[in-house]
Amino acid sequence: MTLNDAHCHFLSSPFYEALGREKYGADGHTTAERAIEELGWEAPGTAEALAARWIAELDRSHVSRVGLIASVPGDEESVAAAVGRYPTRFVGFFALNAAAADAEDRARRAFAELGLRCICLFPAMHRYRLDDERVARLFEIAAAHGGAIFAHCGYLSIEARAKLGLRSTVDVRFGDPLALAATAASFPTVPVIVPHFGGGFFREALMAAESCPNILFDTSSSNNWIRFVPGLTLTEVFRRALAIAGANRLLFGTDSSFFPRGWRRVIHGAQQTILHELGVESDVSEKIFSGNFERIFGGAS
Ligand SMILES: [Zn+2]
Repeated sequence: MTLNDAHCHFLSSPFYEALGREKYGADGHTTAERAIEELGWEAPGTAEALAARWIAELDRSHVSRVGLIASVPGDEESVAAAVGRYPTRFVGFFALNAAAADAEDRARRAFAELGLRCICLFPAMHRYRLDDERVARLFEIAAAHGGAIFAHCGYLSIEARAKLGLRSTVDVRFGDPLALAATAASFPTVPVIVPHFGGGFFREALMAAESCPNILFDTSSSNNWIRFVPGLTLTEVFRRALAIAGANRLLFGTDSSFFPRGWRRVIHGAQQTILHELGVESDVSEKIFSGNFERIFGGAS
């Protein structure tokens, strides 16, 4: 069975520069280096070098294709360079602040010129509602270019920011799956990915998926939001998501990000075990680990 991972972060040099600027005030490479050193992570080098690092890592774990996220707004070029070099392996996703004045121009350019395929929204971080007009305009642009939307809902913690002690600007109330459903319903051709089963707004995410057939969940990360719900297990989350959204609307993901940790095998292993426990048929597993990603993102662009 081929294996596709719908959720990996491309932590490029511009990503660390943005963090370093925020933490140390100055700009340029020295601040990126300081941030990387403080994190104890591996320096990414150029986008091409980081892309090659990823490919070697994915080959080792027999991962075929990944949704690769430019994880800070304005970093579309880094992921575009990675996709340009390995078009059969990477599908380009990009973080975009829907409240920024240049959001629409950036979205158009990313789809039309850079060959990226999915806008990633973090409404809790950038503080806008998912039923805002500005979000609807990004959906329109995605629809016109055959693109997808990823909308982070629920609890949000960014590992690099937390480790560097950067102030959290997150207001979780903006990450409401029901507000997302209100917009997604008007754009039935746009695949809408809600990562981590709604990140704690699980009930709302299920209701959103029930009302919008174009909403999918990604299964990524350790899903430790389940600790907010007494007694809930990840096995039960999968059982319920399969019952309501169905096998065609779950996308396997790991939320892998930095090196040397690399691709998170343990997430894959844990989710395989859960699906085995649930006794799902092999065609269900095939859809989750591979087929649904292929349906949405087609062959290589
Ligand atoms: Zn993530």
